[in-house]
Amino acid sequence: MRILLDADCLIQALKNRADSAVLNLCRQKRCQGWVASTSIPVILESAEVSEEDVQSLLRDLAVLTPTAHDIDLALGSDKPFAQALAAHLVKASGLDAVVTLSPEKFSGITALTPDQLQEKLDAPPSPVEEVRLLDITASYHQILNAVEKEMAETIRSGYFILGPKVSRLEERMADYCQTKYAVGVSSGTDALLIALMALGVGPGDEVITSPYTFFATAGSIIRAGAKPVFVDVNDITFNIKPEHIERCITPNTKAIIPVHLYGQCADMDPILQLARDKGLAVIEDAAQAIGSEYKGRPAGSLGDMGCFSFFPAKNLGGFGDGGLVTTNSEEIYKQLKIIRVHGSEPKYYHKVMGGNFRLDALQADAVSAKLNFLEEWTEKRRKNAQIYHQLFKDSALTPFVQLPPEVFSRHVYNQYVIRAGNRRDELRTFLNEKRIGCEIYYPVPLHLQDCFKSLGYKSGDFPESEKAARETLALPISHEVDHAQQEYVVQMIHRFFLGE
Ligand SMILES: *Cc1c(COP(=O)(O)O)cnc(C)c1O
Repeated sequence: MRILLDADCLIQALKNRADSAVLNLCRQKRCQGWVASTSIPVILESAEVSEEDVQSLLRDLAVLTPTAHDIDLALGSDKPFAQALAAHLVKASGLDAVVTLSPEKFSGITALTPDQLQEKLDAPPSPVEEVRLLDITASYHQILNAVEKEMAETIRSGYFILGPKVSRLEERMADYCQTKYAVGVSSGTDALLIALMALGVGPGDEVITSPYTFFATAGSIIRAGAKPVFVDVNDITFNIKPEHIERCITPNTKAIIPVHLYGQCADMDPILQLARDKGLAVIEDAAQAIGSEYKGRPAGSLGDMGCFSFFPAKNLGGFGDGGLVTTNSEEIYKQLKIIRVHGSEPKYYHKVMGGNFRLDALQADAVSAKLNFLEEWTEKRRKNAQIYHQLFKDSALTPFVQLPPEVFSRHVYNQYVIRAGNRRDELRTFLNEKRIGCEIYYPVPLHLQDCFKSLGYKSGDFPESEKAARETLALPISHEVDHAQQEYVVQMIHRFFLGE
């Protein structure tokens, strides 16, 4: 439950300190407690409360700062200001209730006394009614104040593009991925494009990749002026089959882009060996795989470059678009930095073609604040995956659905993708009716996309990719999903295949 704590109830709680029921519930994370910043002076004015008391209070709560517009609305209401503002904040921020000593003063929102809150949380949980594929706002309680701090600094400094915030994120990301360098860019798509440009890939060149991936992987090869050459995927991991790559290498081949699909690394050793033997570059499409590892080495540190995305639905997402390229090569690093700013070096002198591939400081701020939680959230995803595995096994569903195995530890489960045979579309409709978010990644393999017709591929060329596109379904797996929700998902899949 997400609650806004009214000033009166916080003052009372501070007086009782150790045995404040409300604060204990927040401390134990049984609910997410928010306090409006406008309540702080009210609390401080209460004679028995010291500033240290309020400081320690804020360690367990998150601060909700009203905008000037929120305040204006509350001032214009016919209710007293404090109640009007609290009611408005609860509604606008999607909180569940205000907790107050005087619930009668509130209208239009759920208002609970501390005792009522306790009762509600102690009651048997209400049955799950909905599981979203992704609920980004669910973790705001953990991160919003840190994001706001970073963003306020940026806004006050006026340094909006690249600059110290982006450099700091680059250092932290290089450290996280165990590479020498990282270059923040405008999106994951642009990360792939700039990586190809840094290698000088262009017209006449061929780049080998998977046809079963997000469009950007192959789209960026075309945008670089080169030709994508597809190699089918493995039926278990959905990643490129290394043993099929060699026969596709021609004198024009310049690079291989293995995709670490759904958060699990492609089988990199044979790919890297082949690339070394044939003098090819390797660019990892690690957009879905931040934090994943292959034989103890992090994604992004395996090839010549690693490309990451900060799209909000990725495991480390910003509040908008952003991306990053990692590398251990000083030479590539220098190229990336120049191409990122229109090939300009020094400023206004252009020796090479580049583009605007710059990362915003505000995006770097959101990503930096979230990076502190990435390991915790990744471990929660991995735990959720284990729970699904167990639930599917216990429900005798494994003859009907193929589960995603962890072939190369560590899988970071950007998606938890099952195979549901020829009943996939029916299952999806059924789950959507039960208000369970699920999605098909991806319904059409890239070699069959209209815009790639001129490449000359046809249906049947990549049977595993085509089969995966027909049979797979992604289930809710993010760190915000709880055990009861997972049970509900598996229960409904059981109902679909086996009846009640
Ligand atoms: C998301 C994604 C991209 C593109 O990233 P954006 O930040 O959305 O441009 C590229 N490749 C894969 C595999 C992705 O999942």
